[in-house]
Amino acid sequence: MSTSIMLFTRDLRVRDNPALTAACRAEHVVPVFVFDDAILNGPFAAPDRVRFLLESLADLRASLRDLGGDLVVRRGDPVTEAARLAGRTGASSLAVADERSAYGTRRLGGLRELGMEVSAHPGITVVPPGELTPAGGDHYRVFTPYWRAWDAARRRPIADEPKAIRLPSGVRAGPLPRLADLISGSPSPEPTPGGERAGRRRMTRWLREAAADYDRAHDDLAADRTSRLSPYLKFGCISPLELANAGPSAFRRQLAWRDFHHQVAAAFPALARDDYRPRGHRWNSDEDALAAWRDGMTGVPIVDAGMRQLRSEGFMHNRARLITASFLTRDLGIDWRHGLRHFNDRLTDGDIADNAGNWQWVAGTGNNTRPGQVMSPLRQASRFDPHGDYVRRYVAELADIEGSRVHRPWTLPASGRRASAYPPPIIDID
Ligand code: FAD
Repeated sequence: MSTSIMLFTRDLRVRDNPALTAACRAEHVVPVFVFDDAILNGPFAAPDRVRFLLESLADLRASLRDLGGDLVVRRGDPVTEAARLAGRTGASSLAVADERSAYGTRRLGGLRELGMEVSAHPGITVVPPGELTPAGGDHYRVFTPYWRAWDAARRRPIADEPKAIRLPSGVRAGPLPRLADLISGSPSPEPTPGGERAGRRRMTRWLREAAADYDRAHDDLAADRTSRLSPYLKFGCISPLELANAGPSAFRRQLAWRDFHHQVAAAFPALARDDYRPRGHRWNSDEDALAAWRDGMTGVPIVDAGMRQLRSEGFMHNRARLITASFLTRDLGIDWRHGLRHFNDRLTDGDIADNAGNWQWVAGTGNNTRPGQVMSPLRQASRFDPHGDYVRRYVAELADIEGSRVHRPWTLPASGRRASAYPPPIIDID
């Protein structure tokens, strides 16, 4: 009887999961997720992400049970736990998603030393890092040529969903831990629900109702018309390939941005730490300004609205991420690494490659072909929140101020009680 281990990592789905499909070719399958101490003790362990992870695992377990199997849950080092399970079940092969981060590459190396047949499968990105390369280079450094190659590249077929899963006898599945067993701290008050089912519901509804309008509406802050699928992509609850096959061009372009940053991070593993293109930046260290930025108390309403959305939802609109990141690095002159750390602590979709790639892009140390470009927060506000609705939604002190006047509360004559609780701008931005 052949037995295979399916090691889930950040591919928490049964639909279009090539690693799971491969593992299911064996007669018996051991689907396992290992709560990895090295990850839980590091910066990954943000409450919003661990909560989302637990919900996604509960959903995955339910799907695997529907197929006759279960999700085996362990805690410790994934390589050691895989070896233990192989010893107990006699598994001779293991399938895992091909994850090209520095950590994922080390983990795969460890698994390959176990003496089993180990196969690594695509599925985390639409196009795996390293598959597209420019002439004379190991990765694309500029987005537009990458996007052209990406959109023209042949895509793999969607993987078959397993029809049934048969666990070998004698394997204890183990309970899912509670959030408090894993980390301290509380998730944001309005979280995104985790899991493949929730992700597919959102994906189906969004493709039906909003995708066609994406090009026109994706930068409109108040309309909130982007897909909000990023946490599901981060944890692999939905397949990026399935989404790319269904979405319109402007939307596919965003998925290509994701793949772009992943191929940069695979080639430059220090992306979250070191400047990708060092340009001799000198950063200010201003703890008070940094604290005001984190707390959404800079006195610049469009910036504070973004930072408060992050605090309450564990999510921030892409346009607001650009504005708040630009304000921190360009207006306050504070090192992008401080911003990256705060986003990483709060974002449910927080991902090393996407977070670092975008921070460096905004700060002018990354892949931006116009690194000197600076965004004016007031111009951005009047363009992307022309009626002030986004600011009013998140900055309670300004909720009573009408129209676009909300973007410049300091110019209003003696304003009401609530507005006077709002601080004046910490820097001159007019
Ligand atoms: P949609 O507009 O619906 O886009 C669809 C998908 O495309 C997203 O879910 C995402 O997977 C991908 N995508 C869109 N824009 C980008 C982009 N610029 N870079 C990479 N992928 C993109 N995204 C993350 O997933 N994790 C992060 O940690 C992260 N940090 C960021 C930090 C900064 C400073 C900035 C400016 C952007 C960051 N982004 C990050 C990218 C982007 O803001 C989010 O992916 C997007 O806002 C998620 O919302 P959505 O799913 O509604 O996006």
